[in-house]
Amino acid sequence: MPLYEYHCNECEADFELLVHPHAENKPACPACNSKKITKVAVSSFSSGSAGSSCGNGGCGGCGGCH
Ligand SMILES: [Zn+2]
Repeated sequence: MPLYEYHCNECEADFELLVHPHAENKPACPACNSKKITKVAVSSFSSGSAGSSCGNGGCGGCGGCH
């Protein structure tokens, strides 16, 4: 599952969450439980210096690419 980085608009907290690609319910802030959160970025498991391409076999642990 991809690890998403979120920012809470309510308490200004930044946090990361594992989110199922097909989940419909939006996650809530773990600090204040608000759902006014913004997806900031998608973090990568493999701290690769190589870009974000999934085609080069560098994302074996990434289940969301295929
Ligand atoms: Zn919050």
